[in-house]
Amino acid sequence: MTPTLAAVRIDLHTHSTASDGTDSPARLVRAAAELGIDVIALTDHDTFAGLDEAADAARTVGVRLVPGVEVSCVAGDVPFHLLGYWCDPDDAALGAELALNRDDRVPRAKEITRRLAEAGYPISWEDVCAQVRPGATIGRPHLADALVAAGAVADRDEAFAELLRDGSPYVVGHHYVDHRTIVPLVRASGGVAVIAHMGAASRGRVLPESAVETMTEQGLAGLEVDHPDHDAATRARLRGLAVRLGLLVTGSSDYHGRGKRQALGEETTAPAVLAALEALVRPVAAG
Ligand code: AMP
Ligand code: ZN
Ligand code: FE
Ligand code: FE
Repeated sequence: MTPTLAAVRIDLHTHSTASDGTDSPARLVRAAAELGIDVIALTDHDTFAGLDEAADAARTVGVRLVPGVEVSCVAGDVPFHLLGYWCDPDDAALGAELALNRDDRVPRAKEITRRLAEAGYPISWEDVCAQVRPGATIGRPHLADALVAAGAVADRDEAFAELLRDGSPYVVGHHYVDHRTIVPLVRASGGVAVIAHMGAASRGRVLPESAVETMTEQGLAGLEVDHPDHDAATRARLRGLAVRLGLLVTGSSDYHGRGKRQALGEETTAPAVLAALEALVRPVAAG
């Protein structure tokens, strides 16, 4: 009898308390191990802050950690997210852009808080800060958590549906990295770039394919096609786009802990795709 090999499970997009997830980096990695996930990427919003803790935990429990980041970007006036894998966390140019994103998220979150308070929702800036781990990237989910704590909504989903969705009168934007800048920055830091959940119409306007073409010419490696926010038709369209542009196709859960419904490992990436992504990693010049 041929022995059955257990499939390698790879989840390339997750969040921890270093941004807007609810599990600490170590807890997230332990949860992956308990679920039998072999490879996990930690991709917190605009920060590498959770990676050291995740790497320590990964060594302990025998999970492979792919270091990542999810960068908030914009093409024209359409915001989108780009996943960077294996970037050098000490790269000055990429680090400066991430810092601009993170720093501008603070006055932005204050402004959203001010608008909500003015409309009668019982939250203060202190209430919002109480939801954020020190040093973490602040985002709308933390405002949602403050609204939940104040009893104004039942959960993050309700907060987004009612108050925090894109286009809501309470929501304003922040600094985003330009789509013509981000791929060269990621590549120069040694990393590999994949566009996250670009077909999720539920998140607002969809990234135009012309922007993907520009980024492909600059060295974009792949598209995240299998994502909980993508329906079957969206996945089919994005697979077609990936074939046309010669891009790799990834799948991932975009796990946020208790804050979102999707489970760790709910969507996965093929081992051959992970190997192809890793083959694109650039050695970073010693300096
Ligand atoms: P921000 O980075 O502040 O623009 O907030 C965007 C984050 O909000 C993303 O990481 C999403 O995962 C999260 N988000 C968007 N919609 C929802 C929702 N319905 N429930 C929970 N989290 C959401
Ligand atoms: Zn998030
Ligand atoms: Fe995202
Ligand atoms: Fe994400």
